[in-house]
Amino acid sequence: MAERNDNKTESAESSLLVSRVKEGIRKLSAYSVPHYHVEVKLDGNESPFHLPSDVASQVEKALSAVDVNRYPDPEALAVRDIISRTSHFPLDGILLGNGSDELIGMLIATFCGGSGSILIPVPTFSMFGITGTALGARVLESPLDGAFDIDFNPFLDIIEREDPDLIFLASPNNPTGNVYSEEKIGSVISRSRGIVVVDEAYSDFSGQTFLPDVKEHENLIILRTLSKVGFAGLRLGILYGREELAREINKVRYPYNINSLTQATAGVVLENHEFVNENIQLIVRERDRVYKALTGMEGVETYPSDANFILFKVGDADALFGGLIDRGVLIRNFNRPGRLENCMRVTIGTPDENDRFLSAVSEILAP
Ligand SMILES: *Cc1c(COP(=O)(O)O)cnc(C)c1O
Repeated sequence: MAERNDNKTESAESSLLVSRVKEGIRKLSAYSVPHYHVEVKLDGNESPFHLPSDVASQVEKALSAVDVNRYPDPEALAVRDIISRTSHFPLDGILLGNGSDELIGMLIATFCGGSGSILIPVPTFSMFGITGTALGARVLESPLDGAFDIDFNPFLDIIEREDPDLIFLASPNNPTGNVYSEEKIGSVISRSRGIVVVDEAYSDFSGQTFLPDVKEHENLIILRTLSKVGFAGLRLGILYGREELAREINKVRYPYNINSLTQATAGVVLENHEFVNENIQLIVRERDRVYKALTGMEGVETYPSDANFILFKVGDADALFGGLIDRGVLIRNFNRPGRLENCMRVTIGTPDENDRFLSAVSEILAP
């Protein structure tokens, strides 16, 4: 009894403190990653492939040489240098983040924290809105069109009317999977007076990239990440932009944001990337196979994908989600009122994992 009373006092006090939390934050819900112990994990858009053993032993060697008693290189120069060489992009225009999530935060802090505005098409990656709200920016949303492409005229109207400081275009978009039309992205870049960020987290699977366009457009910034092509655990995001902008964004970066174990590992995997490309090609072939199989199933509506995952709609997403969990398969359930009602997202895994997913779905949906 006494214990229970103590808890009550504590929660009454903490609720007073909670009232000091900024209103925008209280209304937010945390980026949720539910934990399930399953054999087939197809919910996080990660790569299913482990490091090849020869690369793994090089990583081991590099890690054992790290002086963990010392701070990492604050500029992560060796890693940025490899990225600059392989992308043919000027070193001073390249910044690294603890995942591209951190770079999204740095961009918002630099260009619109406190009073500025962000424009995003929706539905899209939730961290744009969450971080924008957390940093006090006004988040303007423009619904995607029927094909999940940018709804051009309303989108341009908002640009004209509101002159947003920052526009985030994830192409391929998450969770819808499609790239936006190249012409529309191009027009948004040239019609916007603010910064346009093209988030290319999945561009390895689509082949579409606006990286060369940074040369012509000073307001264009590209985000990439190692997370979706095999290295989600490293937490390494890459920003490409004009040097004069990168210099400003770099001022809000925490010192030592890329830890030394990540720097050492990234150095090895970026120098040995043939296996990464092979894995990407395999995922693309599997994506097309899973897409065909899902599309052929009664009661499933699929949306075309240029990424390493597929969005699809069923009659009862919650029931399918539960049935899949019972069969050891975890995917992402996006069921909520609106455009994503009864929509689910499956990450492409190994051929074997994809087969297990497909046969579980057809078993659950069988009449
Ligand atoms: C996964 C994802 C990210 C975040 O990637 P990290 O580098 O792991 O932080 C950014 N943008 C989009 C669109 C994503 O899907």
